[in-house]
Amino acid sequence: MADSPFIPYGRHLIDEDDLAAVAAVLRSDWLTTGPKVEEFEASVAAFTGAAHGVAVCNGTAALHAAMYALGIGPGDEVIVPPMTFAATANCVLYQGGTPVFADVDPETLLIDPGQVEARITSRTRAIIAVDYAGQPCDYLRLREITNRHGLALIADGCHALGAEFGAARVGSLADMTVFSFHPVKHVATGEGGMVVTDDANLAGSMRTFRSHGITTDHRQREKAGSWFYEMVELGYNYRITDIQCALGVSQMKKLSGFLERRRAVAALYDRLLAGVNGARPLGLRAGMTHAYHLYVVQLAQGMDRAEVFGRMREARIGVNVHYVPVHLHPYYRNRFGHGPGLCPVAEAAYERIISLPMHAGLSDADVTRVVESLKGALA
Ligand SMILES: *Cc1c(COP(=O)(O)O)cnc(C)c1O
Repeated sequence: MADSPFIPYGRHLIDEDDLAAVAAVLRSDWLTTGPKVEEFEASVAAFTGAAHGVAVCNGTAALHAAMYALGIGPGDEVIVPPMTFAATANCVLYQGGTPVFADVDPETLLIDPGQVEARITSRTRAIIAVDYAGQPCDYLRLREITNRHGLALIADGCHALGAEFGAARVGSLADMTVFSFHPVKHVATGEGGMVVTDDANLAGSMRTFRSHGITTDHRQREKAGSWFYEMVELGYNYRITDIQCALGVSQMKKLSGFLERRRAVAALYDRLLAGVNGARPLGLRAGMTHAYHLYVVQLAQGMDRAEVFGRMREARIGVNVHYVPVHLHPYYRNRFGHGPGLCPVAEAAYERIISLPMHAGLSDADVTRVVESLKGALA
């Protein structure tokens, strides 16, 4: 119905506690870096099982910080999947390195370890695994590959805060794991990002990087005077504010409930879609606990995705497509000569995928309306 309320594919859920937490910061002495930054870092690190968290102004800056901390530079290659947001690959370019695309598994759209292995060269330094839609990658095989070749394993966990691989949370499965707190992600700070890691040196390097490359060593300050600071690296201003982190701390308290609701929404979609011909959900790996940032269906061969998409938008359902394979964006085509054929599985999947609305604020009636509209659009 054209007059039905629009159901967005993702959105934040803010309550009175969140409003009060932000208002309290606005009345305090700190608007930017203050006590809430550390509190938010500690909260996310503890939740994911990592020793350190380094909060920055968005998930893209967090990816950049991770590439910086690894020392990625010109001549270095970093293997990434094409089925992701462009930032996963762009962060390698920021450091002067080269992203190398390894195709995904056709059932889960997660990076295929066999394809990763095939793309390793003497220049490869790291792999960035993306827990697409909120499902953990095959970290056992990826870790075995990175160990054997002496590579770093980075997780772009922007979809997967709260996802679990067996008993281990995303955040404790890679050398560094990146999260985003954009409003469509599990926890919202407006803009925000974080890298979690067990490595104190990497964390220290990223703290310097996020604030102009400036160190404020206590001993040096005592010797030279309290005005003293030194810029030792070329960093950026990637700081996050206390205003945002207060919201993040408040949102983290509700994360378990958000995850529970997202999983219930997914279970209802699974049930309602079971009898629907023409669209099926992505494959699930055994032993994983999904965080459901996205709920993606693949249309059957021969269905017209544009038509289905258009009809659902007409029905005021905020369907989306995640993602245009990164190597097919004009920038990557022009700069690297990439084009169709580089990652055929991702390219074929791209023609058939639709993301249905998925967020913690969806009611059962919303989910039912989405599935009814999908059935209508497929008919
Ligand atoms: C959201 C997202 C990012 C970037 O996060 P921002 O906070 O928007 O900069 C990176 N990678 C993936 C997979 C994402 O979903």
